[in-house]
Amino acid sequence: MSNLEDLYREIILDHYRNPRNRGELATPPAHKAEGFNPLCGDEITVYLHVEGDSLVDIKIAGHGCSISQSSASLMTAAVKGKPLEAVRGTIDTFKQLMTVHETSLDAEFDPEPVNLRALGELAALQGVVKFPVRIKCATLAWNTLTQGLNDLP
Ligand code: ZN
Repeated sequence: MSNLEDLYREIILDHYRNPRNRGELATPPAHKAEGFNPLCGDEITVYLHVEGDSLVDIKIAGHGCSISQSSASLMTAAVKGKPLEAVRGTIDTFKQLMTVHETSLDAEFDPEPVNLRALGELAALQGVVKFPVRIKCATLAWNTLTQGLNDLP
């Protein structure tokens, strides 16, 4: 199990040091959403370019802790170029991953196991749920993306 934890830590550090899809997109045609996590000081700006039913491009600007920045990078790698329906599906699955710990404390509740295989590298962030204060760091980019999608004209 510790080998897996090492691998996860490596993935998170790699995305923090070499963030994917970092930068800005011209608005318009791209759309911009901003998110802030006051608990940690993380700031994320998500630029999304939607054409038809596809998220054809996504860029991230901002700064913050390693969890917030690597989660944003992992998110862009997971959703770029995907149909919007698949993007929303990935967001839902990731949010489920970030709440599974909480729900499993409830004996009455039998959570559907999160499909880690479908998450790919995103599974690296699952350890974050052990540190509830960091969950807001990990979900910031995702909430900002959701906000951007909901704001689309
Ligand atoms: Zn943070």
